[in-house]
Amino acid sequence: MIPFSPPRIDDRVIAEVIAALKSGWITTGPRTKQFEKDITAYCGNQTTVAVNSWTMGMQVLLHWWGIGAGDEVIIPSYTYCASANVIVHSGATPVMVDINEEDFNLSIDKVRSAITPRTKAIMAVDIGGLPADYVELMNLINEEIIIKQFHASNEKQEKLGRILLLSDSAHSFGAIYNGKRSGSLADISSFSFHAVKNLTTAEGGAICFNLPDDFDHSSIYAEMCTKILHGQNKDALAKTQKGNWKYDVVEPGFKCNMTDIQAAIGLIELERYQENLDRRKSIFHQYNQAFKNESWAINPLFETENKTSSYHLYLLRIDGAKERSRDAIMQEIFNDDVSVNVHFQPLPLLTAYKNIGFRMSDYPEAYESFANEISLPVYFDLTDEQVQIVINSVKKAVKTILG
Ligand SMILES: *Cc1c(COP(=O)(O)O)cnc(C)c1O
Repeated sequence: MIPFSPPRIDDRVIAEVIAALKSGWITTGPRTKQFEKDITAYCGNQTTVAVNSWTMGMQVLLHWWGIGAGDEVIIPSYTYCASANVIVHSGATPVMVDINEEDFNLSIDKVRSAITPRTKAIMAVDIGGLPADYVELMNLINEEIIIKQFHASNEKQEKLGRILLLSDSAHSFGAIYNGKRSGSLADISSFSFHAVKNLTTAEGGAICFNLPDDFDHSSIYAEMCTKILHGQNKDALAKTQKGNWKYDVVEPGFKCNMTDIQAAIGLIELERYQENLDRRKSIFHQYNQAFKNESWAINPLFETENKTSSYHLYLLRIDGAKERSRDAIMQEIFNDDVSVNVHFQPLPLLTAYKNIGFRMSDYPEAYESFANEISLPVYFDLTDEQVQIVINSVKKAVKTILG
């Protein structure tokens, strides 16, 4: 069986995890701090806080920004449930918009019509690793009429004076947009280091801050470190210093810090990340080459004039396939022992979001993009021979089902 996206775990990763285990310090400590610094250096943002998942990082972040009941946050309808769930749990209302036909990312026109005086943030999602249109989004939220109708409800929001631009960068670590890396493209970006993502720490995430210069990023870092550790003003490592046992709890915080065991995996992953990107790029090009002359194939966009994907997901669409025939094609592929997937079921198809009033018929592009989409395996250890097996299997399956 060719798996869909196994992690790259080899002797170097294992050795670094063992070193962390033997070091005498296994929770947040020197490896986590180093990992945060390395991410900041790589992404070119201002400061980075490592956390235990994208989800909890974003949850704490929304709380920190003061987003809650009565507020609205705009997200694409085409994303993983996490993007919406954190908004629901914050007490705010998720406002879903449709996507572009060509690239699975949220549509700027749809965002524009969704903005109201209650809009506090827009969360763009870099689906498959291709960055959303951050320049257009930033221009939009800086338009005079949009700024005029913005209501700040605390000091931070007042200081920014406009809608906050968030990036769900769960897929896009290493992606480039106008010469800048993901993590530095929005006011605040959040990565996921879940086991299936491009860069993994088993579970984990990082919040990358890149707010305007009048924000003090070193105090933001200190504030966030407190917030992700119950509001304690000292972390466990600081408390072990001689005579430093006493601490205060400055607010009721959350608990979602990254451990040094996770960071050990991340440090190695990041150190050799370019190798990973290069391999993924090569697989993308092999798929692209194999399908570009097939009349039924709609290849995904992954390199454009101003964007380079992180090559996370190869989102192939089968022209002429409907939901049912797409599922049948996938079954044929599985029968060849090749794992494929669908990214994503648009949120309005799922019970939780239907129950709060979302209707799939309001998001026709999202539905169309989902109905004939099949994600193909892409990962470092996938060999060229396996890529060929995937290609042959897809071609055969399409022929069998669509004729
Ligand atoms: C994986 C993923 C998340 C959630 O990441 P976790 O680290 O598992 O919390 C959020 N958004 C998108 C688009 C994802 O694919």
